[in-house]
Amino acid sequence: MMMAGSTVAKQVGRARMPQTMLAVARPLEAGAAWIGGGLLFMMMIKRGSDGNDKAAVPGGCCGEGQRAFRPCHEGRRESFTLPGGMQELLPNPRKTLTIMKILPNISRISRVLPLAALVASSFAALGQEDLSKPVITTETRKGEDGKDVLYMFIDGVKVHETDTSKQPLPAVVTPGEPAAFFAPPSDAIVLFDGSEESFKKNWTDTQGNPSQWNIVDGALESVKKAGYIQTKESFGSCQLHIEWAAPANVSGDGQGRGNSGVFLMNTYEVQVLDSYENTTYADGQAGALYGRSKPLKNACRKPGEWQSYDIIFHRPLFDEQGKVIRRATFTVLHNGVLIQDHTVLSGGTGWMGPHAASEYKKHPDKLPISLQDHGNPVRFRNIWIRELQDKPL
Ligand code: MG
Repeated sequence: MMMAGSTVAKQVGRARMPQTMLAVARPLEAGAAWIGGGLLFMMMIKRGSDGNDKAAVPGGCCGEGQRAFRPCHEGRRESFTLPGGMQELLPNPRKTLTIMKILPNISRISRVLPLAALVASSFAALGQEDLSKPVITTETRKGEDGKDVLYMFIDGVKVHETDTSKQPLPAVVTPGEPAAFFAPPSDAIVLFDGSEESFKKNWTDTQGNPSQWNIVDGALESVKKAGYIQTKESFGSCQLHIEWAAPANVSGDGQGRGNSGVFLMNTYEVQVLDSYENTTYADGQAGALYGRSKPLKNACRKPGEWQSYDIIFHRPLFDEQGKVIRRATFTVLHNGVLIQDHTVLSGGTGWMGPHAASEYKKHPDKLPISLQDHGNPVRFRNIWIRELQDKPL
């Protein structure tokens, strides 16, 4: 059991241990293993010596010199040569007696070994999370206007990196033809079904007042300077289906073309952007977790065509002091194509300058879903949500 526990510690804890923890835990576990192995070996010698679970003593029927003993074919004991240093150890009467004193305490000692392994494993557990955390570094550089600009690097790549040799753009995938209208399942909460009644029932502006967004042909349309809209109801972990269309009349480029966003918990943005033959930084194109994680593929349809996001989101967990004890995760399908594969969100997605994103900040367990007004008339329809249970820690 001890070894099994130790193995689990290696697989679960050590995989995430910082090197400093490993430096302490490895010698501890190794020491426990050597002690255990040594005692086991002595037990084998002890049992093999006379068959009666008594330690061998020199001077038996076959005993002489630097030898140990085992039962011979006539019931007598015969000697055999031990390897290396054991020859120095066992035949010496005084040392053998010492071993005899130790042997009865083996069971007591063996109780200590799991404790040693537990201590080592505890060191491993202390290191959890650290290696799963992306390596984020920051530095401040002078901008063209002489002001300080914060630069954030996630796993060595600059936030909003436009150099494709350092941050390659996702490959383009042509999604399959859209199926018939994807009706919500029976246990979903419908947040918008195309009707004005549904809109007024479920959505407000960020102040809790009726929103100025338009309803056009059964779709919600963002209105410039009308601000974000958000659900009246709050949600945590969830499965969210939402369909959107970039303006058919193409205007602008990069981040200025068909920009909106789906915000989980009013905080974490899945970028909406017309990324059809429109180049921008990878971590800001359609399906990006803005500034944090680029999509695996570019599965964007043409401007004006309806496209879907299916988002499986698990909220972050915080402790009482506001420390993140489990990061948020996103799985996202864009037009049926997987573009975020259980992505662990390394921090917030808020704009913190041209090359930095916000950090986690403790918030309630549930918050509204919101949609962004970025000045472009992006449309939304068929919005439904299913709440998910948080998995235990
Ligand atoms: Mg946006």
